[in-house]
Amino acid sequence: MTRAAAPAVARVAVPVPLPRLFDYLAPAGQSLPPAGSRVLVPFGRRRVVGLVMDQGHADPAAGHTLKPIERVLDPGLIAAGQLELIDWCARYYAFAPGEAVNLLLPGALRRVRAFRAPAPAGVALTEAGRDAELSRAPRQAELRERLLEGPLERDKLLADTGAGSDVLRRMERQGLVRGVELEQLPAARPGPELNAEQRAAVAAVLRRRRRFAPMLLAGVTGSGKTEVYLAAARRILDMNRQVLILAPEIGLTPQLVRRIEARLGEAAWLYHSDLSEGERLATWQAARAGRARVVVATRSGVFLPLPDPGLIIVDEEHDSSFKQAEGARYHGRDVAVLRARLAGVPILLGSATPSLESLHNVERDRYELLELPRRAGAARQPRWRILDQRGSPAGLDAGLIEAMQRHLDEGGQVLLYRNRRGYAPVLMCSECGWQADCQRCDAHLTFHRAGKNLQCHHCGSQRPQPPRCPECASPGLIALGAGTERLEEAVRERFPDVPVHRVDRDAMGGKHDFERLLEQVRGGEPCILVGTQMLAKGHHLPGVTLAAVLDVDQALFSADFRAPERLGQTVAQVAGRAGRGDRAGEFLLLTRHPEHPLLEALGRGDYRSYAWALLEERVQAQLPPASALALLRAEAHEAAAARDFLRAASGRLAGRGIDVIGPLPAIMSRRGGYWRFQLWLQAESRAALVNRISACLPALHDMDSARRARWHFDVDPLEL
Ligand code: ADP
Ligand code: ZN
Ligand code: ZN
Repeated sequence: MTRAAAPAVARVAVPVPLPRLFDYLAPAGQSLPPAGSRVLVPFGRRRVVGLVMDQGHADPAAGHTLKPIERVLDPGLIAAGQLELIDWCARYYAFAPGEAVNLLLPGALRRVRAFRAPAPAGVALTEAGRDAELSRAPRQAELRERLLEGPLERDKLLADTGAGSDVLRRMERQGLVRGVELEQLPAARPGPELNAEQRAAVAAVLRRRRRFAPMLLAGVTGSGKTEVYLAAARRILDMNRQVLILAPEIGLTPQLVRRIEARLGEAAWLYHSDLSEGERLATWQAARAGRARVVVATRSGVFLPLPDPGLIIVDEEHDSSFKQAEGARYHGRDVAVLRARLAGVPILLGSATPSLESLHNVERDRYELLELPRRAGAARQPRWRILDQRGSPAGLDAGLIEAMQRHLDEGGQVLLYRNRRGYAPVLMCSECGWQADCQRCDAHLTFHRAGKNLQCHHCGSQRPQPPRCPECASPGLIALGAGTERLEEAVRERFPDVPVHRVDRDAMGGKHDFERLLEQVRGGEPCILVGTQMLAKGHHLPGVTLAAVLDVDQALFSADFRAPERLGQTVAQVAGRAGRGDRAGEFLLLTRHPEHPLLEALGRGDYRSYAWALLEERVQAQLPPASALALLRAEAHEAAAARDFLRAASGRLAGRGIDVIGPLPAIMSRRGGYWRFQLWLQAESRAALVNRISACLPALHDMDSARRARWHFDVDPLEL
């Protein structure tokens, strides 16, 4: 008996966390849709949107009955190059192939029910509308009147005429008006004349414009990196090719976008998580059609369809927000480099504080180094000072107060950085020593005075502020240490006549609050800014002449091998906020450990030599980027369940060229009620590590203990 030929099937990525694709037959009476097609398929009792990754033949041993694809929604929607990119990422980062759906399609195209795109922002009069007899519809006549001069923004039109949107919808239904996209082409404004180093960097990019060439643009803060990006981008646009600019979450401020548009004379299409689904869809479609020639995006934009990319730029390439912490744990910068390689285009990674990964690639001649050693224009690097806080009482340091007063008197603005929101990181009983801890995490609760509550910054749980100690009933509860809220209070007391602005997630309701504040601060009046990370990055505040980092000491003694790198980056970035205008800047670092070798190195004010020294240490210790590291993390309500799974997994993962260490508790060993453990997988060769993980993955899923814990791989992890 001959075996019947196995039926032809489409291999479909389905958005579920299982380590495989699923086979489907062609829809009834149709041929198999090609790879890249968006399809609707039955899955269990649901219907889901999937992507055809490949065609093949069903495994005759599979045993289950094959179902047909219900409907082909968009044949060949995703280009082969994009499928190749995702394939590589799924293998390298060991994520479920179904994540392809989430990464390659915007939310609107992942919905089973067709997404109704919102009406375009503009309205225009049709021929019929121009001639219509509207004497019995005065409101419609009024709208027409306004539209006779040309298309208008929908909201503006309604606001101007006071008409309700139902009137407009009625006219639309009757064909009197129609939606149009209002192209607002910004007028191009020339930038400053580039200096010699900037010109050399632009020339380097253009020389390599037709091939893969990764370049690290290392320039001190304010050295004019953005002007280099824009000058290079302008030339690539002139060749009629697309430019993709990736920036950290926090970097996509309207200010940067306006500057890009003004310099390029081109609309910048945005892609980030604060946009509505409709806006994201619009950018996605414009990018795919080649209409969007400049796309400015956060990490997820690295997967946007671009038919003709000519240059990829990654701004602030060291920023950890490029790494996705959930689901598909990819690093946007590293995927961007791969994408540039697949597309054969140059990629420019820019930072004032490059990651050790990128410096390592420079050292091994994989990346070309382009340097901007000086601040552009008239601005100079700020003067550095370390303030020894040993012996000085809690609260504002006397040396700091003196410096603040001096800068304010001279009309400058002051920026104080403290990476801790809330009033105090610890609430303690002065009688019995009780401390307010989170019941679900291995962490203290932060006292928030404004909200009169205790909050866990790790799992989000909250409790009202207790009136007395829950252990001994003493009313003597004291707040230890200072977060931004307390710092703000202390600063207001000491400088009652100066405006004080706190910048953190609690104080800033939304992006708009923050933008408005930044605008106000750029007005230049003396003021004091107190803030977290939100304040440290990227913002150009020319009036700030004094910047200070308060309390870095925790980072000096962290168990995380990346802590010194992050410390150096934060310190250099905060220092970089001072003296960006025409007045000289000063930078202060407050510590109780001024003799610490890391601070001595940092105190010289030279991030680069500090970073090279750290890299040397990593090489000595065989830590990344000198070796490849992946974590297998597991968490469970019972510590034993997580540990047992990792022990069993460890046996399978160990092999030639791979060191498996653990199970070890995570640095935060308990979070959100889960006990957290991990295996360290280390190898000299990245390929060996990745191959080993992907070879073991199916077997791990099949282990009994795998079902008793939540687990995932994190390749090139940033958090331990
Ligand atoms: P970075 O991106 O390195 O922080 P920017 O490109 O934002 O630096 O430049 C910092 C400031 O210096 C901006 O106000 C910019 O307009 C200005 N600038 C940049 N290049 C020059 C130049 N060649 N001449 C004069 N000013 C410049
Ligand atoms: Zn007590
Ligand atoms: Zn918690």
